[in-house]
Amino acid sequence: MPARRLDGSALSAHIRSELVPRVAAFTAARGRPPGFTVVLAGSRPESEIYVRNKIKAVAEAGCRGDLIRLSESDSLTSALQAVDRLNRDDAVDAILVQSPLPPGMGRGAEQRIFDAIDPAKDVDGFHPQNVGRLVQKRPTLVACTPLGCIELLEREKIPLAGKSAVIIGRSDIVGKPMALLLMHRDATVTICHSRTENLAAVARSADILVAAIGRPAFVTRDFVRPGATVVDVGINVLTSADDVDRVFGVSSAKRQAFDRKGSVLVGDVHPEVEQVAGAITPVPGGVGPLTIAMVLRNTITAAELRAGMA
Ligand code: NAP
Repeated sequence: MPARRLDGSALSAHIRSELVPRVAAFTAARGRPPGFTVVLAGSRPESEIYVRNKIKAVAEAGCRGDLIRLSESDSLTSALQAVDRLNRDDAVDAILVQSPLPPGMGRGAEQRIFDAIDPAKDVDGFHPQNVGRLVQKRPTLVACTPLGCIELLEREKIPLAGKSAVIIGRSDIVGKPMALLLMHRDATVTICHSRTENLAAVARSADILVAAIGRPAFVTRDFVRPGATVVDVGINVLTSADDVDRVFGVSSAKRQAFDRKGSVLVGDVHPEVEQVAGAITPVPGGVGPLTIAMVLRNTITAAELRAGMA
């Protein structure tokens, strides 16, 4: 039997509508809406889409959503200056610097930028102060993608306490915070990465398997215990017909979409896993929309905390 699809798009729309009254209450109390500003350096097509979706979602809920654009050739100093101005602007409650930054900003640029954001406005939860609070299970702004995954698992009533959770990927923005959030919900957590031995066997021990790797269709059915819940965080763009055929088959709907558009999205999980898993997040329409909902929720939370309303 194919896995139950965990519909992130529907849940995201539901959560965003639930948040509208909080925006209205803040606006009534403070005489202005919660303010969210994105800094986008360069013009990578994927970043443009992510940023547009985030600003649209916060604006639809009644927040102010602004975009500051920097060019591909702007320096790290100008990005830091933009962040400094936003830190000092009282009408800005939430700051998001879209990654990746242009390579010209140099190695370590992202960390310097994330460190420079006022932790109270750190909607992405990447500031070390917020990460430290998460480690200690204190209330804080938490990275939106893992927060969205947890929200999905909890609302779908997937049991977490006492269960075995395996995360493939140990990045600061997905894998590590995901591990902490699952551990704080009493899951027994294993974190895997590119040096993990017997990866498929370790993954097969999971009741909940989270793939955050950045490799198209990497997780095949031999990684998945029958009935497990699979959360596919990966967003990969396939631009070659051969790759599409290899993953989805020559006469698949995805191949037809590829013929129309010239590219298709695929997660880190192979489509064949649907035949083995008990529940699975689709790509697109799974984790991505929940990330957007959590950007909105963190914006409102940051605004309320700054105003002493939370
Ligand atoms: P990342 O920083 O590149 O981290 C990838 C992780 O995967 C690393 O820990 C790496 O191990 C591990 N890895 C790579 N190859 C592996 C292999 N062969 N076997 C086992 N582990 C391997 O990526 P990220 O930022 O966490 O993002 C991961 C994916 O999620 C990407 O597809 C990204 O586009 C997507 N994403 C989606 C959303 C969303 O809203 N849906 C948000 C953020 C990211 P090492 O540490 O050993 O190198």
